[in-house]
Amino acid sequence: MTDADPFALAARMALAWEAAAARFGAYHLILPGSRAFVCKTDDCEAACCRVFSVAMHDRDVARFARVSGLQPVQFLELENGEPIRLPLAQPYLLARDEGRCRFLRPRHRCGAYEARPTACRLYPHFVVYWNLETARPVYADPPPLTAAAAGGPIVPLLLGHDQCPGFTGPPLAPAEWLALLEETDHLQRNLA
Ligand code: SF4
Ligand code: SF4
Repeated sequence: MTDADPFALAARMALAWEAAAARFGAYHLILPGSRAFVCKTDDCEAACCRVFSVAMHDRDVARFARVSGLQPVQFLELENGEPIRLPLAQPYLLARDEGRCRFLRPRHRCGAYEARPTACRLYPHFVVYWNLETARPVYADPPPLTAAAAGGPIVPLLLGHDQCPGFTGPPLAPAEWLALLEETDHLQRNLA
């Protein structure tokens, strides 16, 4: 748990966002006081479960298999009967049928909620690290959140995806905002 001052951190984020926003056009910066996310599947017809292919890393696959009781060939995209493995950090793809996730159920319910991949747990939040000195994002080996949140030229940015209509909840209190930042960063580092 970071003990960063949320207001000082938010001020650094706002400063970094002035330069970073142009690179992240599909996202908005989430600060204390921003509307909390509340999933509103009826408003969007569960768009995120239809529009995007969900990438999975090895631990996602292992957890999905363990929690769901399914074999990987039953929940991953296949080629010639074997799971497709792409040359990426998250090499597997959750299976899709008829233009949507195979596990999307009637009334927009997730049929694999407890087993769902990290990408599903993260969405619509995202953390990117921004270097104020180089005016560039830091994708490889960003510092630990606690270090970046405490100060220095690298600033964590908590972002929300603009296409999600769920940012309609009550304003985030500073402590809630810090907790959301930590949870999102934790998931994104595949530590879950
Ligand atoms: S996360 Fe956003 S886009 Fe996805 S179902 Fe919920 S409200 Fe809709
Ligand atoms: S696993 Fe669940 S949350 Fe993830 S895309 Fe499929 S239906 Fe949506």
